[in-house]
Amino acid sequence: LTPLLPGATIGVLGSGQLGRMLALAARRMGYRVLVFSPDSDSPAGQVADAEVTAHYEDGDALAAFAGRVDVVTLEFENIPVEALELLERQVPVRPGPAVLYQTQNREREKSFLAAQGLPHAATEFLSGPEDLAAALERVGTPAVLKTAGFGYDGKGQLLVNGSAEMGAALKQLGAGRGVLERFVDLEREFSVIVARSPRGELKTYPPIENLHRHHILDLSVAPAAVSEGTAGRATEMARVVAEALDATGVLTVEFFQTTGGELLVNEIAPRPHNSGHLTIEAGPVSQFEQQLRGVCGLPLGETEPLRPAAMANLLGDLWQQGEPDWPAPLAVPGVSLHLYGKGKARPGRKMGHLTALAGSADEAAAKAETARRLLAPAR
Ligand code: AMP
Repeated sequence: LTPLLPGATIGVLGSGQLGRMLALAARRMGYRVLVFSPDSDSPAGQVADAEVTAHYEDGDALAAFAGRVDVVTLEFENIPVEALELLERQVPVRPGPAVLYQTQNREREKSFLAAQGLPHAATEFLSGPEDLAAALERVGTPAVLKTAGFGYDGKGQLLVNGSAEMGAALKQLGAGRGVLERFVDLEREFSVIVARSPRGELKTYPPIENLHRHHILDLSVAPAAVSEGTAGRATEMARVVAEALDATGVLTVEFFQTTGGELLVNEIAPRPHNSGHLTIEAGPVSQFEQQLRGVCGLPLGETEPLRPAAMANLLGDLWQQGEPDWPAPLAVPGVSLHLYGKGKARPGRKMGHLTALAGSADEAAAKAETARRLLAPAR
């Protein structure tokens, strides 16, 4: 397993902000970056060496792409597994198709967790609306109905408190498959980011706490206010996930800590994560550089942050009253601005984020929120 050295070309499937920050880390270290997605002038494409605009089902375009890169990684999981299988005939794909297969669909993800003995919210699989009533009986209420495939940021989710919501739930389910999950009382949510190289070297970042608004990540804070015991157990579970999947690059495990003190795995993402953006400033090695190192088979970097940090997402909603006041948050010491180069600021769309460094996690969180408020002064 010879490492891919600077000068090599990294192929990235997907072209959003995660790909953009990976490309920036890669180019800083002297790698070339080629992005593949159906979009043009994309967040990642803007900062890559080149951008291929084609569909993930386009076999000819995929083969041509594979011919131009030394390794392929991904920044987005809603890509057909077949695309990765096709690419893998020509070039190493990290993480490989099997990792994507297990994690891009909630049914397979939950089956994997069960097979590994990893705790998660009580779940029932539904093959159609006819299964809902019995599943609700077994899982109990409140429950949350989720589509089996291609869901993110709470899209395709519906809270079910009882039979009153059955109509809406059945409609949402349509003829498709779904999973019904017990809706648990959350004390907090946090994530553990794992980097793993093809040789099996593995590093984990300490837990990062996540606060959501309307099902979308709003604020991430590190270090998370979890006990050493909880951090240790979560880290061990994240390690089990990465090793059992034989994942390479970066993988993220999202956790629920319930008010009853239980630790549950919520989701696995086979890539860097919104919560890990703060590792760019908190250092010493960002999740994106770590992904690059893992994918290239280089030694992995240190993960213990140098400073407490917090990240506040900037959603398109901020633009609804006009252009945000960019200079204002930058006057706050320790605050950095990231914008993703997206054209249209639609409500709910992730346009950028602010990171704040401070002496403690609480201070960093307060500073990130203050800085974000400065962007949209009362007009
Ligand atoms: P997901 O896309 O499945 O990660 O869900 C998005 C967010 O919805 C999570 O981060 C939680 O805040 C919330 N959520 C999802 N499933 C559950 C559940 N079973 N119990 C409580 N909250 C949940």
